[in-house]
Amino acid sequence: MKERADGSVWILRLDPGDPIVRSLTSFAARKKIGGAAVSGIGSCRNPELGFFEMGEKSYRFRTLAGDFEIASLTGNVSLSEGKPFLHLHVVLGDAESQAWAGHLREAEVLAACEIVLTPLAAPLGRAVDPETGIKRIEP
Ligand code: ZN
Repeated sequence: MKERADGSVWILRLDPGDPIVRSLTSFAARKKIGGAAVSGIGSCRNPELGFFEMGEKSYRFRTLAGDFEIASLTGNVSLSEGKPFLHLHVVLGDAESQAWAGHLREAEVLAACEIVLTPLAAPLGRAVDPETGIKRIEP
């Protein structure tokens, strides 16, 4: 991964084979970033996507085999139990330009992944919502 600061914003380039979620989580930990907006584009391989099943109060995950364009990667950095937590969603395009989308658990960078990470002025916390069991941001 290569990184450059542009004012308070970070420009990141993830390289082939880099795990997207793990790479961004360790970057946030290294830079002590407890809150940020994340956006990106690129390509990935074998993404694992989640869908929240409201009735079961849990995520259903599936891995898509193969290569995909990352048409949109968006989300945020917050703190969960004192550690950076990445919440990312993606819209992916397959070889037929069909879209797949969901909560991104992990994906391996294929050719490149270009990220703009904009830190917030203060850390963003999370707390468990008793209704759904998910950890929601606490603005
Ligand atoms: Zn999500």
